[in-house]
Amino acid sequence: MDCVFCKIASGEIPSTRVYEDDLCVAFKDLEPQAPVHLLIIPREHIASAEEITPKNSAIVAHIFEVAAKLAKENHLDRGWRIVSNVGEEGGQSVKHLHFHLLGGRPMAWPPG
Ligand code: IMP
Repeated sequence: MDCVFCKIASGEIPSTRVYEDDLCVAFKDLEPQAPVHLLIIPREHIASAEEITPKNSAIVAHIFEVAAKLAKENHLDRGWRIVSNVGEEGGQSVKHLHFHLLGGRPMAWPPG
């Protein structure tokens, strides 16, 4: 499958990894939108949050556990944001489920 995040998960495409385990990989976003901008992805190819079902939803809880750990490691004690864009109008450009972990500056609401 020609998926850039599958290739990052397998190591075929290089990335700046900050965490990995059997289920997920976290790495630095190429175009950071905040002082800390990490992406956390499942190793399994899931196209977006739209494809979450009772069979695969445990990965979401696991990724949130990893996000909390990474936020602590990055000293984001003043707050942080986790977001997953879904589909064209949601602003999703890579069709492999990913969660942006952003922090290190005040976040605006609503996002653009
Ligand atoms: P989306 O727009 O929510 O789908 O987010 C995709 C994110 O992936 C964007 O923030 C991109 O900067 C990031 N990105 C795309 N390709 C790479 C890469 O090869 N390494 C790291 N980040 C990437």
